[in-house]
Amino acid sequence: MPVSESHFLWSTLSVGAVLEAAAMLLAFVGVLFLGSKFLPGHRVAGPEIEGRSRTYKLNGLALFLITVIGGCLAQVSGLFSLSVLHTHFAALFVAANAFAFAFSAWLYFRRARIQHTSPGNWRSFLMGSEFNPTYLGVDLKLFSYRPSLIGLALFNASFAVVQYETYGTLTLAMVLYQLFTFSYVLNYFHFEDGMIYTWDMVSERFGWTLVWGDYVLAPFFYCLPGWWLVHASAPLPPPAAVAIVLLFAFGFWLFRGANQQKHRFKRDPGVTIWGKPARTLDGRLLISGFWGIGRHLNYTGEICIYLAFALTTGFASWLPYLLPLWLAGLLWHRSRRDDRRCRAKYGELWKQYTQRVRYSMLPFVY
Ligand code: NDP
Repeated sequence: MPVSESHFLWSTLSVGAVLEAAAMLLAFVGVLFLGSKFLPGHRVAGPEIEGRSRTYKLNGLALFLITVIGGCLAQVSGLFSLSVLHTHFAALFVAANAFAFAFSAWLYFRRARIQHTSPGNWRSFLMGSEFNPTYLGVDLKLFSYRPSLIGLALFNASFAVVQYETYGTLTLAMVLYQLFTFSYVLNYFHFEDGMIYTWDMVSERFGWTLVWGDYVLAPFFYCLPGWWLVHASAPLPPPAAVAIVLLFAFGFWLFRGANQQKHRFKRDPGVTIWGKPARTLDGRLLISGFWGIGRHLNYTGEICIYLAFALTTGFASWLPYLLPLWLAGLLWHRSRRDDRRCRAKYGELWKQYTQRVRYSMLPFVY
């Protein structure tokens, strides 16, 4: 972020601000937890993990929409301004880190207490000891994406509020950034059932790595381009805006399309993809649609989306581009890990798949 913004962040940090931020964070997570527990939601059965299939209650979309409507009403009525998230950003960052460490420690000792064993080593703390810890019937891993992404959406909205309160208008770049990031988070909750089949849900234990990613990394780092836009005065030329919209639309089509095709296939191997019955390898691996072109085009689509977020800031600084760069590195690494996992799981069938679909994220390149 610009030097003046980083100076602003430091200047807002005080013990009082951190205590206020901690209260805000606990109230936010607590309300979302109660909402997750008590709001009605569609129940779906997930894949088998450790020999057991679980049922998940999906009410993230309702929680997200209630938060959005509540935030808009509070803002418009003057009851509360989302700009408080901007002024408390640094303090919230400190509070969120403390929360992530405390939550991970609780998870670490909890299993030992339940099973009357020793808590394990550092690896158990970092990578987790349980796949799907639940508390009061709420799956904590699935739940944690809610404060994570709703928090991200609120931070993004606070940037627009601060720009409007400061300058009395919103720039074209800010409007595009808001539309892109809102659609991205809305898509996650609209497609929350797809989350149940992701790598994190199926293959990762719930420890510090995922907890810190959910409560710190995603909300505080993924809004990086938004910081640039608050006081950015250089206008975004309309042809550049059109090109960025096209890139976002293309990325979204790839990201959502690929994820949905796989998800529909997992639920029913007889689905139609692009108007034709799905072609498969042994009924287990999809080779139609995006999955017949690349083994991880969903990752490519998401990188295009994040690049579009960063491009709204123009080329005044390379720092907003850390976000798409980081995601590209993360997903490239993940594609390699996933290939190893699938090779071990599917054996010869995976070999046939990689011979048939040779590229992972970028056809003819990688
Ligand atoms: P995928 O949704 O691509 O899931 C990979 C799994 O899908 C494989 O392990 C395998 O599992 C199954 N699979 C792979 N190929 C096929 C096939 N041809 N047919 C049928 N099943 C197949 O990966 P992730 O869970 O990593 O990611 C999910 C989404 O989350 C992606 O869109 C990604 O971009 C996004 N993401 C975003 C991050 C962020 O920070 N913004 C971070 C990480 C992910 P199985 O055992 O079920 O067959």
